[in-house]
Amino acid sequence: MQSHSSCHPSAQTRRRPVADRPHWSYSQISQYLRCPLSYYFDRIAKLPKPFVSSGLILGATVHHALAEFHRGIQARKAMKLPQVKSILALTFAEMEDREPIQYRNGENRTTVLDQAVALLELYCGEAVPEEVVAVEEPLLVPLFNRDGEALRKPLLAIPDLLTREKGELTVSEFKTSGRRFSESETDSALQASCYALAVQERYDEQPRVRYTVLVKTKTPQIQRLETIRCNADLIRLAEIVQAVERAIEAKAFYPIESAMNCSTCPFFKPCKEWQGSSERSGSIIELPELEVAVC
Ligand code: SF4
Repeated sequence: MQSHSSCHPSAQTRRRPVADRPHWSYSQISQYLRCPLSYYFDRIAKLPKPFVSSGLILGATVHHALAEFHRGIQARKAMKLPQVKSILALTFAEMEDREPIQYRNGENRTTVLDQAVALLELYCGEAVPEEVVAVEEPLLVPLFNRDGEALRKPLLAIPDLLTREKGELTVSEFKTSGRRFSESETDSALQASCYALAVQERYDEQPRVRYTVLVKTKTPQIQRLETIRCNADLIRLAEIVQAVERAIEAKAFYPIESAMNCSTCPFFKPCKEWQGSSERSGSIIELPELEVAVC
């Protein structure tokens, strides 16, 4: 989902055995590419976050409820809508107990929960997948650069849903978003490359990648976009990860300010206090032994 970084506790527990090993994840890579300074504050300095945005909470709770819904289908014990809604409400309550939520103007707990419920109702009211192969399966796979060398750390990908449809393996990513996506966005999405690589390595089949966008318009909508990845895309992914790895080792941490990046950034205050990382400014960033945070 758009908001994918905040994981539900039970999901974190399921992921722990592989997630404890040093690895790259899409959320790490994309956070560095979006704003290297935010990556530093979050994953290296490990600054506490004073709040979590309502959009992230909505995305994480809808994600969790959908995962349970799909697990029910996989186990041939399909859940009724009220059950899915109560999972959503419970998850929301657990998350708001853990950290303060920052609501946008005009939003509050009720409006966000109502929106989440409306999205779930719409999705669960549609035809359900016939064959669920896996739900949030952690896949730890090697990354090979264009010289065929494996990067030091593998990639951990946890696709939301893997189904088989008319014999074809389909990996689905759910997004909650205030707008519809464009085809060019999904065709160039690094996340789709991460999933395609991981599923191909694990199942020895090239999957198609489907983005299911739950659009948070007044009348909720569902948009589905499909994309595929070829080997050249997967090598390009490894090259990007390698470049990010080198930039982090070189302590290249700097702000990328934009309305989209900064409006919900929990590190706004330390960012404003940041004085650069040159030796002259006396505030060079000291890195601990480079290690990789969990996704
Ligand atoms: S406020 Fe903006 S520029 Fe600063 S760390 Fe956050 S996202 Fe980056």
